[in-house]
Amino acid sequence: MKEYAVRNLRLCTKDCLCLYVCPTGATDTENSIIDKSKCIGCGACAKACPSGAISMVPHDMPPQQPKDESVVAAMNGLARDKALQENEAKTLAEGMTGGGARLMAAVAYSCRRTAEDIYREAGYMLPQSRNTRKLLEKLAENESTASQAKQLLDRLPCNEE
Ligand code: SF4
Ligand code: SF4
Repeated sequence: MKEYAVRNLRLCTKDCLCLYVCPTGATDTENSIIDKSKCIGCGACAKACPSGAISMVPHDMPPQQPKDESVVAAMNGLARDKALQENEAKTLAEGMTGGGARLMAAVAYSCRRTAEDIYREAGYMLPQSRNTRKLLEKLAENESTASQAKQLLDRLPCNEE
């Protein structure tokens, strides 16, 4: 399977080992993002990195596993609830100060993370999947999200019929 390297900037300690071992200079970039166009997928950087900050990922992702429609419907309902709870917590936080505001901000954050997990379980795990593209196409119709959604649609080719 043809692969390329990606760097997790949060884990990177900038010791530059990957720069020394890369045969093509793909890791030596101004923005710290490994240059995919130069990467030949040898894996030397991932083996050398002491922080586990580099992963090898396939060029062609396997198709996403199909989900039962009843599971997807239940998950979508749960995710909607979490989105509502997040908005309520944010609204409450605006009217509070100190510990109360911090607590509501934490509740909102927790709801957001949970909703993200639920959406992954509902079949939106892979950006290249048909499901995710349909979602992006809907977001592309919305004025406030159209620009970002269109960029993602351009960059992420669908890997399903
Ligand atoms: S996989 Fe090989 S070519 Fe690609 S960035 Fe790492 S060391 Fe460089
Ligand atoms: S070897 Fe790992 S920790 Fe070091 S600069 Fe490269 S990615 Fe960052």
